[in-house]
Amino acid sequence: MTVADNPGPLTLDGTRSYRIGVRHAVLLDPGPAAPDQMERLASLVGDATVERVCLSHAHADHSGIVRAAAERFGAAIAASSDTLRRLGVDGESLADGDLLPIDDGAGQLEVIETPGHSADSLSFLLRPAGWLFTGDTVLGEGSSMIAYPDGRMGSYLASLARLIALRPLRLLPGHGAPVDRARELLEEYRRHRLDRERQIRVAIAGGAGSVAEVRERVYGELPTRLERAAEASIAAHVAHLRERELLPAGFAQRSSMETDH
Ligand SMILES: [Zn+2]
Repeated sequence: MTVADNPGPLTLDGTRSYRIGVRHAVLLDPGPAAPDQMERLASLVGDATVERVCLSHAHADHSGIVRAAAERFGAAIAASSDTLRRLGVDGESLADGDLLPIDDGAGQLEVIETPGHSADSLSFLLRPAGWLFTGDTVLGEGSSMIAYPDGRMGSYLASLARLIALRPLRLLPGHGAPVDRARELLEEYRRHRLDRERQIRVAIAGGAGSVAEVRERVYGELPTRLERAAEASIAAHVAHLRERELLPAGFAQRSSMETDH
């Protein structure tokens, strides 16, 4: 594992790239096109043969260096067809249930489609170890951003339920340290979203008529930068309420964030 030099509020200590395997490996999420990123990857890979450079999703902090990395290690790019299309790269398209051999079959990496953070998000389960590589679907600390409208709360909750059912033994996130209390953290993630939805429904029932008004009631005073992040999250919840016809008529559905697009 190597951590890119791109720390920040959304990337925590930086994007994590993983070499999965010892001799015949997968390189997962090569990371951003940052100045010394290729050297970090080279020391991560060492003497291993990289058979595939896989991507959890197309966001640039995970994929920025993917072409150069595939070229450098003589490996194919492997990602969901949606991710390949977003990046405009050729590669092997991965779909739910695909199994990628690691170290000549000593292990297998199972592709799990986990939309929610973004529509193209994949997770990868290493069998038989039970290690789950979660990309941005679950982070080592804090909560994952639902990049609405590309990300969707309904699919995110379904993806969390699916990951919980896999009973992973360890989570290896795209940002933040590995987590050994895997099931517990996944349950916490789900609870956090359901609690937030309840708070939002209370705010709306109490008269909040727009995303901004919900934000004021649920979060109180926030610095401007965080207001936008909070509104993006609320917009994702509001859309999920709307999908289930739980949103009262008259609620102003568009957030300031949506109108900016
Ligand atoms: Zn992302």
